[in-house]
Amino acid sequence: MRPTFLIISMLTFSVVVLGQQDKLMLTSPGAVTIDGFVGAKMDSCIKNGVMAVDYSLYSTPFREHADDAGPRFQGEFWGKWYTSAMLAYGYQPSDAFREIIEASLKEILETQEKDGRISSYSRENTFDMWDIWGRKYVLLGLMSNYEQTGNKNVLKAACRLTDELISIAGPGKTKLTETGLQVLGSMSSTTILEPVVLVYKNSGEQKYLDFAEFMVSQWSEPNAYTDRGMKLIEDALAGVPPVQISSPKAYEMMSCYEGLCELYRVTGKEEYLEAVVSFANSVLEREIMIVGSGSSAELWFDGAYRQTELLEQPMETCVTVTWIKLCYQLLRLTGDPKWADQMEVTLYNSLLGAMNESGDWWAYFSPLSGERMPSPMQVPQCHSSCCVVNGPRGLLSVPLWSVMHNEHGPVVNLYNQGVWSLELQDGSEVSLVEETTYPEDGSVLIRVQQEKDAEYTIALRIPSWSKQTELSVNGEALEVVPGEYASIHRLWKDGDEIRLSMDMRGRVMQSPGNMNDLAVMRGPVVLALDNRLVKPAPYNLWLLPEGAEWQHQDELGGLNYILPDTINASGVPRYIELKPLKDKPEDVWMAFEVPFLYRYTHFFGHEIRPLVMCDYASAGNRYSEDNLFRVWLSQPLFMNQVFPEGTWRILYPGEKRPSFPNSDKESIKGNSWEDNND
Ligand SMILES: [Zn+2]
Repeated sequence: MRPTFLIISMLTFSVVVLGQQDKLMLTSPGAVTIDGFVGAKMDSCIKNGVMAVDYSLYSTPFREHADDAGPRFQGEFWGKWYTSAMLAYGYQPSDAFREIIEASLKEILETQEKDGRISSYSRENTFDMWDIWGRKYVLLGLMSNYEQTGNKNVLKAACRLTDELISIAGPGKTKLTETGLQVLGSMSSTTILEPVVLVYKNSGEQKYLDFAEFMVSQWSEPNAYTDRGMKLIEDALAGVPPVQISSPKAYEMMSCYEGLCELYRVTGKEEYLEAVVSFANSVLEREIMIVGSGSSAELWFDGAYRQTELLEQPMETCVTVTWIKLCYQLLRLTGDPKWADQMEVTLYNSLLGAMNESGDWWAYFSPLSGERMPSPMQVPQCHSSCCVVNGPRGLLSVPLWSVMHNEHGPVVNLYNQGVWSLELQDGSEVSLVEETTYPEDGSVLIRVQQEKDAEYTIALRIPSWSKQTELSVNGEALEVVPGEYASIHRLWKDGDEIRLSMDMRGRVMQSPGNMNDLAVMRGPVVLALDNRLVKPAPYNLWLLPEGAEWQHQDELGGLNYILPDTINASGVPRYIELKPLKDKPEDVWMAFEVPFLYRYTHFFGHEIRPLVMCDYASAGNRYSEDNLFRVWLSQPLFMNQVFPEGTWRILYPGEKRPSFPNSDKESIKGNSWEDNND
């Protein structure tokens, strides 16, 4: 463990905009250092990915209006990348990174036309396909810069961009709900709500709020694409399943609700927040799979119930990232740790599983069985793909929410080796120094560092799955409730120690859609079988939870008869013994021996044959046709067909299996959509 006591002055960021409605506020990003497993992943993502790209490729489409032809969505790359570059710079504010963000900012601002327009389409193709979608990302990029640097020129450019948009899409002009792709119900265009509200929040100019409210009112009105109207608020409030709301394009839909969160933040209109909470609860219940993401072929599809099927193009990384971002909004606005529970599962499973080892490329889709495959090169001109520029926006958000604060003091959402510095209301500074290898281990030590004694509250998230939790301050035990924050109010002194021990027992999970399919979780981490650790074999196995019934019938010849218990009607969690594996492959993070039951036949010859399971993010992480894995374990599990083969063809129906472009330059040709569509 590398002890870290680097505390960067919070003065780096002169503009700190706090939402009036927020229950939890952000930590100033430069005041956080995250080490350990997540820290190393973030470092790779920044060093080899975000800050190593040829970023000029992302502003070229705006200079050349390149989306008039070709892939048509090159406009999204600059803003997706720039928002992650600002997260990286906020977290590690070096001169080198500042040069990059300033150089790229200069490039995009040079494409701004006299009337404020910035678009990857030429003027005669305004509103075509992904035009407004691309502008949305530009505006998000500009606002991410302004909110961290306070550079007035950037805000001015953002206002001019929005002014031009209002001049063509304001009242009496073209309806944004009738622009963009009809099949997406114009959702891609109206996601621009989010940065328009940010422009209002930072400029204070009423016309931007008026435009935002105008866009939201259009959701309720019939338009040329739909007689019914999009009804994003009405349907969310009514609990309509996500797959039946407007067009089921998953991450565009969530982006609309992210915008509604921002609008609630500045208006306080309860209906907006209620709609988003109701929508997110529907997504959680009906769409989110065990590893914390959803979608098939980029669409909602009642995936929570269908996740045990062999799915075509499951869990787009853009969906994974946007689900984290939506949960992040709800965590800030509601202070409900339920959303942090979700973000943690998504982070450790679907998100980290989608990033390659070097951190320079991502998966497009992430299956629950079969093999992992790199995202194809969607747009060679930008040397990127939608998910490749989006993945870092999820991962690099961790410093913003791992430790937050409210008016009472710090609020710890994610346990990680690292240091968090926060300013208390009286202006004094407190640092929380965390020592832990969580979630490899369930114990966390937090040391309080401060110059003078101070009375305040430290709140710690007790995950809902942690049914046996121990918490103490300087050895004094405290009561906790799973699924709530444990709030510790006292006169804190320098050197005070908080010890938290979470319940890391293996949990047997039952599929919501098929009672015959089980999976294993340990803390926030989903476990999987991987063919580096388990070989196919010609017999059946049953998962063997603790307390499975064992009947010993001596009079019949010493039969050991175990009743496999697949049905968990009571809803009471079932636990399973997990033994850490000593000799695991280098590229596997965590691996455990898990008890399975072998039955020669139903009445006799029963014995325990353990299988090794590893964490989901490590499963299949060689991204090769030869490295197969599986999460859901149908009961019984027929070991001869345990790993489906050749699944890259249902992830990507091209002629050639994509490989990582940066490690295999030759593979770029033949790797792109266009090459395969010839
Ligand atoms: Zn994507």
